[in-house]
Amino acid sequence: MLERLSINLTHLCNLDCAYCYALGGDYGGYSGDARVAEVEARITDVALLNPNIKSVQFFGGEPLLRFDLVDGFTAHIDKLVHEGAIAAPPRYSVVTNLTLLDDARIEIMKRHDMSVVVSLDGPPEVNDATRPYKGGRVSTARVLENLAKLRDHGITFDIECTFSKLHWAKGYSALSTFLYIAELGPSLVKMTNVTHPDPEIGFNTREDIARVLDENLTLLDYALEALTEKGRLVPLGFLTELINALQARADATPQSGGCGGGGGSYCNAGTGNIAISADAKIYPCHMFTANRAFEMEIAGGAVTRQPKMASKRDHAACTSCWASSWCVACPGAMEFRRPGHSGPSAIHCGLMRGGLEHVFAALADQDASAPRLTVSG
Ligand code: SF4
Ligand code: SF4
Repeated sequence: MLERLSINLTHLCNLDCAYCYALGGDYGGYSGDARVAEVEARITDVALLNPNIKSVQFFGGEPLLRFDLVDGFTAHIDKLVHEGAIAAPPRYSVVTNLTLLDDARIEIMKRHDMSVVVSLDGPPEVNDATRPYKGGRVSTARVLENLAKLRDHGITFDIECTFSKLHWAKGYSALSTFLYIAELGPSLVKMTNVTHPDPEIGFNTREDIARVLDENLTLLDYALEALTEKGRLVPLGFLTELINALQARADATPQSGGCGGGGGSYCNAGTGNIAISADAKIYPCHMFTANRAFEMEIAGGAVTRQPKMASKRDHAACTSCWASSWCVACPGAMEFRRPGHSGPSAIHCGLMRGGLEHVFAALADQDASAPRLTVSG
């Protein structure tokens, strides 16, 4: 099963985010819109390799800049479904900064029953500092207006927050940032701790790492307490990921969802995840776009060039780690952090192991007469 096929509609972006791993949208490579005929040919190549495409994610750059391309790509996918080259219609989603929403784009979202993932780092005083327009104008008021439009139209959305030291500079912790975002009505909030060499942005000192781990585990405890004591599921992506990891191990199944993984692999990039760039190149995941060392080739229904992905087996810390069979880590972030030198970060390992320990403790502590949190197996 191909859990996620990402298609970049453009490598242009209208924002200038402080920490952008895509280097302003073009990943340091091709800087333009999707070459439609070539991208369609790559979609066909991917379908020949794996006809079971569960979801298609439109990505960028900022995909709403060229949302007019969506209908052409979905028509191509429909044709492949009709011909039997794709087993069943995939689910569609878009990852966007949501600054460019209008009636036409809302219609496209509704026509394809898309789920929307919105990048927003928190309240205006934070998000205006981290996610300005190119040229420096602030963007948050427009994003908040457009979130209201999504709610009015009944379009469900998740919010992805990139948490950085810029939050601390504005007086926000992981918990207070999460609480602000959760009020905006997302189905899920994914908090990602930034990877960045700038000491004003990234968590690069021992003290920073200790503090960010502590804040993230405090946030997890808040969500666990709401669940085990009040039966209220707080939309914290980290909690959902941990429960999914535990459930997959209990069921002896691979982890499903965007990044999958577990077992010997850090994630399913290149197997359950494939990305097509706007210049019609294939990568194991959008995180590797324009990185020639990670380019894949597919021809005649087979992979003819498979980049070597970082694996837990390559790292002694992982082979001896008790959390290894649950752990999903991001080789894309590893490559961004230290190009050519894959390896997990102290923050990731602290969160993975600490998060599992906190879930185990919550499972053990909860009132046996009214359990709210269960993992079978
Ligand atoms: S928690 Fe860290 S050391 Fe353990 S398996 Fe995951 S990445 Fe490796
Ligand atoms: S490289 Fe990172 S983003 Fe891509 S599939 Fe793996 S974990 Fe997910």
